[in-house]
Amino acid sequence: MKKQFAVIGLGNFGFYMAIRLSELGHEVLGIDKNTKLVQEIRDSVSRAVIADATDPLALRELELEKMDAVVVAIGSVLNNSILATLNVKDLGAKRIVAKAVSEPHGRILRKIGADEIYFPEKDLALTAAQRLDNPNVMDYLPFLEGYSIVQLAPPAAFIGKTLIDLDLINRYGVQVIAIKELVPEKMVMIPTGRFVVKDSDVLFLLGPDTAIADLRETSN
Ligand code: ADP
Repeated sequence: MKKQFAVIGLGNFGFYMAIRLSELGHEVLGIDKNTKLVQEIRDSVSRAVIADATDPLALRELELEKMDAVVVAIGSVLNNSILATLNVKDLGAKRIVAKAVSEPHGRILRKIGADEIYFPEKDLALTAAQRLDNPNVMDYLPFLEGYSIVQLAPPAAFIGKTLIDLDLINRYGVQVIAIKELVPEKMVMIPTGRFVVKDSDVLFLLGPDTAIADLRETSN
């Protein structure tokens, strides 16, 4: 489903994020105070504008409150990152994703309303270390274009039924690969057909995007 995103700060992190979101079919508004970067990205995203995100007036016309998420990808200048996040929050953004360069920076951003914080260097270092430790672990399924792993709260019609009864694999082409039980909190990996779905469970499904969309729709 096509979503609308704004990315503020088109340095390395913001630049690649904006272009990737655009490649994934989303509408992306790129924002930076640096004219050169805005010109550079202009042809790769839906819209790119020059604006100083520390100035609330400069952001006001951009309808950030309508975006599915606003990414604040300003990192190195702490003051700018904080003011930009504050402004985006004040404008009523629904979901703010922010980049931080240190733990205290991340804590500040969370306090002023960022919903998700990324620490690019740290996150990448941990992923790279994991890969060195066990190269067979996959982070994602790059070969499965058009497939996703999603979480689904079971709809009412699923409750009390076994996975065999639900038969999602034959009805929708979707496989239940894991179930998170909440009381007590526990992950059941590769559940068997005898698993009885409870109200409080969360299902992890693997399947084609279209099949997952169908399943969500009919189960609503
Ligand atoms: P990276 O490490 O991902 O390159 P930087 O923090 O170095 O991240 O780059 C951040 C980008 O954010 C730069 O392109 C810079 O021009 C932009 N930027 C910084 N402050 C503002 C601001 N107040 N308004 C808009 N863009 C900004």
